[in-house]
This record gives sequence, structure tokens and C-alpha cells, in this order.
Amino acid sequence: MATELRPSVGFIGLGIMGKPMARNLLRAGHAVVVLDVVPAPVAELVAEGATSGATPREVAAATDVLITMLPDSPEVEAVYLGPDGALAAARPGWLAIDMSSISPRVARELAARAEGAGAEMVDAPVSGGDKGAIAGTLSIMVGGSEAAFARAHPVLRALGTTIVHVGPSGAGQVAKVCNQVVVATVIEAVSEALVLGAKAGVDPARIVEVLQGGLASTRVLEMRGDNILGGRFDPGFRVRLHLKDLKNALELAREAGVVMPATVEVEQLMQRMRIAGRGDYDHSGLVTVLEDLAGIRVCDVVGGASSEAAG
Ligand code: NAD
Repeated sequence: MATELRPSVGFIGLGIMGKPMARNLLRAGHAVVVLDVVPAPVAELVAEGATSGATPREVAAATDVLITMLPDSPEVEAVYLGPDGALAAARPGWLAIDMSSISPRVARELAARAEGAGAEMVDAPVSGGDKGAIAGTLSIMVGGSEAAFARAHPVLRALGTTIVHVGPSGAGQVAKVCNQVVVATVIEAVSEALVLGAKAGVDPARIVEVLQGGLASTRVLEMRGDNILGGRFDPGFRVRLHLKDLKNALELAREAGVVMPATVEVEQLMQRMRIAGRGDYDHSGLVTVLEDLAGIRVCDVVGGASSEAAG
């Protein structure tokens, strides 16, 4: 039975991130009701002690707190506002936590609708990737009222170790957009550097080793360096999702009156990946576009000099 300390939780969206997050809520002792359009992760979590709901409305009606972890704004809007959507079950005392990375504008609109029904809603996108989702060590950026943040916090503690109330509704999504700009441009920068080093005939693994000891060290190389050096790009974080985040960043930049030249360039490189059928690569696969242009594969040079090495 639900208690003040362990509210029951509905969880919609059991993908790379959502499935391990729902599992961590179960392990923390919450009663969890799950839903996804794909049956396999639902069956897996039911076998581990969750129950399943047929519609977002049913899941929301059966639980104290609803968490959503969906790809993009249209899926989030469909789950909350569609036929049998979650907001049809919104009521005083009910809390929705959208942890998907979506447009800040859509986050604010949904929160206003939830408040109109006497409920509360926060945006709480995350950083830390699939590894952070599995380990329960995500960094969570929350936008919403003080009261809603205070209610969300005990639930979010099962999912992350850094939980920051960044501001009012939509502020969490703004912080996430900023996060994604940094990650994308750093991936592009390390990719350029390693393609250059490889084509100039130096072992990229040695370059990574020495970069990580100095000012150029970065969590991106720590978490994704093996992907780039090994030429393996299973997601992780899909290019198509990062592209969506950069679209949100550029939309926000237009609204706010900010110029973001590096973000525009990286967005175009990721578009090129999507068009080339690489939209489901991990975002570290951005290096493949630069490799194509340079006519070299970084992974082919690891462990020794390439036959294509420059003079
Ligand atoms: P994913 O594509 O693996 O998972 C999304 C899940 O939502 C899928 O299981 C899909 O079937 C389900 N879904 C889609 N529409 C649905 C609907 N109408 N009803 C029910 N279920 C539906 O994506 P992911 O990698 O888990 O990412 C989820 C969100 O988290 C995205 O917004 C992403 O940008 C963000 N994010 C991802 C990572 C990462 O490393 N993967 C890191 C931080 C943030």
C-alpha cells in the first residue's frame, strides 16, 4: 500500500533509460505500474514485481506519482493529452514528473494543464546516460514549484545522486538543452582531434591517454572514448535523440535571441548521420562523419601507425 514516504509510481516509457529507472524504483520499495507500446520491457518488469496498466489514464489513476521517460515532445503530449491520456486522471494530490528531454515550451504548457486540474507537474530531465540510469546515479534537473519539487525529491532519490531544483516550470528542460549543447560540441571537438591525430599517423589511444591527464580531459572521452577508439556505436544515446535536443536548443536560441554557431554546425553533421542511416548509432558515432570526410577510420590506427598517415 502507498505511504507518504513510498508513494506508488506509474512509469511510462521503458526504453534504454526508462527500464532500468523503473527497476530502481521497484528495488527502492515503491509499488510500480508500467506501460510501454513495446510489450517486451513491460513483461520483463512485471516478472520483477511491477504491474502493468493498459492506458496512460489507467496508470495515472492507479498511482500517486506518474513518471514519463519518452523520446520527444509529440510522444509526451500524446501520453498526457491523447485519448485516455494521463491528465484525464489528474486530481489534487497527484504529481506528474516528466523526465524525457523535450521542448521547454511544451513542458510549461503541460504543467499549466496539470495545475488547471488541481494536480502538480515538474519537468525533470536527466544526464548520465544508460550507465547512470542502471546505477541510479543520474543528474536530475528539476523545473517546477518548491512544493512540487519537495514532493518529487523522495522519488527521484531512487534514480539519481545529483538532484537540483533549477527554477520554475520549464527550467529543467532549459538546463538539459544547455547540457546537450555542451555534450554535442565536445563530441565533435574530440572527434575532430582524434581524426586529425590518426591521419597524422599517431596512435589515437595514446592521444586519449595523454589528453585525459591535462586541461583537455573530458567525461565525454571517459564515457565514450572506447566507442570512438573501437569503432563501435551501439546506443547508448541515439543520434536521432541528440538531434532532437539540438533542435530544441536552436528553437530556444531563436526565442531568446542567442547566436550558437557551433551548435548549428554539429546539428548539420548529425543530420548527415541520420540521412546516411546512422540515426540509431550512439552519438559518439559522430566521428564517422569526420572519418568519411578525411578518408580514414580512427579504429584502424589504434595500436600503430596507419598506412595512410601523413608524411
Ligand atoms: P528509447 O527510445 O530507448 O525509449 C523510449 C521508450 O518510449 C521506448 O520504449 C518506446 O517504446 C516508448 N514509447 C514511445 N512512445 C510511447 C507511447 N506513446 N506510450 C508508451 N511508450 C512509448 O529512448 P531513451 O534513450 O530511453 O530516452 C528517453 C528520453 O531520455 C529521451 O527524451 C532522451 O532524449 C532522454 N535521455 C536519454 C539518455 C540516453 O543516454 N539514452 C540520456 C539522457 C536523457
